[in-house]
Amino acid sequence: MVLPICEICAKSGVLCSACESKLQKGKISETDVELSKILHELGQDIGFDHAINTENVIIVVTAKDQIGNFIGKGGDNLKILSDKLGKQLKVIGRGSLEETIHDFVAPVKVLGINTVFKPDGSTTKRVRVRSKDKKKLRMSPEEMEKLIKSLTDGEIEILFE
Ligand SMILES: [Zn+2]
Repeated sequence: MVLPICEICAKSGVLCSACESKLQKGKISETDVELSKILHELGQDIGFDHAINTENVIIVVTAKDQIGNFIGKGGDNLKILSDKLGKQLKVIGRGSLEETIHDFVAPVKVLGINTVFKPDGSTTKRVRVRSKDKKKLRMSPEEMEKLIKSLTDGEIEILFE
């Protein structure tokens, strides 16, 4: 399994100097460490890239073929993990910027994504969502914009219409 921390750390629960330094530099989060330990304890072959703790939900980014393992039979694993972490888990597959946007906005439907060219030559993706769906989003638009940038390096802005 591929985890943000090494296997020895996941097993012992104490971070080695390499993993500790990744944590200090912000390359991994406390949630990455915590989830890695829990998964190791669970004893199943489940890996992930990042775990991000937001206000209401923990978002886990993993390879697409790992999503089923995270959910487990009848949702068993997801339930165990949510209980241990004390928060609902949302597992999304590693994908392109557009796929990631759709995953984050779900269950709300994206009306469209337009590329906007900024004066400095960079681009941003404008994600159009219905205003009446705003309350159905799992997190604030600002939080979503920040998280998507940290995951994909892509700039987005959410536009309600
Ligand atoms: Zn380590």
